[in-house]
Amino acid sequence: MGQTLDTLTIELAALGHKSYRARQVMEWVYRKRVESFEAMTNLPAELRAQLVEKFPVANFEQVRLGGAADTTRKFLFRLPDGQLIESVFIPASPALYGMTSDRKTLCVSTQVGCAYGCKFCASGLRGWKRNLVAGEIVAQVMHVERATGGRVDNIVFMGMGEPLANYENLSRALAILNAPWGLEIGARHITVSTSGLAPQIRKLADHAVPVRLAISLHAATDAVREKIMPVNKKYPLADLFDACAYFTSRRKQKLGFEYILIAHVNDSLEQARLLAKHARRLDAKVNLIPYNTVEGLPWERPSVVRQQEFVRTVRAGGVVATIRREKGHDIDAACGQLRLRVEDELAAATA
Ligand code: SAH
Ligand code: SF4
Repeated sequence: MGQTLDTLTIELAALGHKSYRARQVMEWVYRKRVESFEAMTNLPAELRAQLVEKFPVANFEQVRLGGAADTTRKFLFRLPDGQLIESVFIPASPALYGMTSDRKTLCVSTQVGCAYGCKFCASGLRGWKRNLVAGEIVAQVMHVERATGGRVDNIVFMGMGEPLANYENLSRALAILNAPWGLEIGARHITVSTSGLAPQIRKLADHAVPVRLAISLHAATDAVREKIMPVNKKYPLADLFDACAYFTSRRKQKLGFEYILIAHVNDSLEQARLLAKHARRLDAKVNLIPYNTVEGLPWERPSVVRQQEFVRTVRAGGVVATIRREKGHDIDAACGQLRLRVEDELAAATA
């Protein structure tokens, strides 16, 4: 329902209820995970009726499930207004920044579509539709936990949308995910990924929940980055790195630089050397991702030989760098792709 203990306490006080009632509701929603207010048996009937009216429970329909049970599973959800979003469940996390773990990771979406229009990305292909509210961000986690019968204990904001462009809802969702009255997921197990919104990076650096930050860098010079990421015109590398430096000054955890390798676009060894230089200066780790081809886009991943040369060059610069080996290359692996395909199928079916 997207309320925090604070916001609900205020809402219920306005209706004349005692403050412990908010805590009881939180317990039902995030701990006992009941799906209706009627099931909250220790609440007075009047309050239950008010809750039903004030916070209608949005039904969140699972329309498609991709992948196998033991590997990455991709959930496609339909929201009450018909929009589609994706969440990707990764039962055992891949090596990320040199660490492997048996954590159950969920990659969540924060918007329907994306306004940032990075040239390589499926999420932005059809533009931006709307922000997800906090409840819709948290509901992805709760739904996947229900569907898989286990707890998600690592969250990455790397699904559809730009989380920092939906800051208020992101902020509230972080509070719910992290709080002891909420899903209680440790802040070091929550990673927010951004294409580089410098002012919001500074805001996040001061957020009460000390999450990890990943920067979708994808190029080591303005000239190359501008070609593939329009956001770089607004926040060029110098501004972005200043914000990154502020972030690291406020947090213990290292920054992550995400770098997709796209053949003949950003995979020169000169870029690798400069990437290492930036990463060393900001004490960031580098995660290299061979590009996942997206239908309708011309980009391709470099040869394995070039991928290896690139990672060796970054490491030679004194930086920790990993390279992701994806299994899901052919099952609409890049976020946003499954949604586009199902939208097309639905359009074809009704045509
Ligand atoms: N908007 C945020 C978070 C969502 S994108 C951001 O850009 O960081 C999550 C990551 O997936 C980003 O690093 C993005 O650049 C990457 N990505 C997008 N399309 C991809 C593709 N086709 N192959 C591999 N990674 C991709
Ligand atoms: Fe948006 Fe991130 Fe995709 Fe860029 S990479 S279009 S910011 S979702």
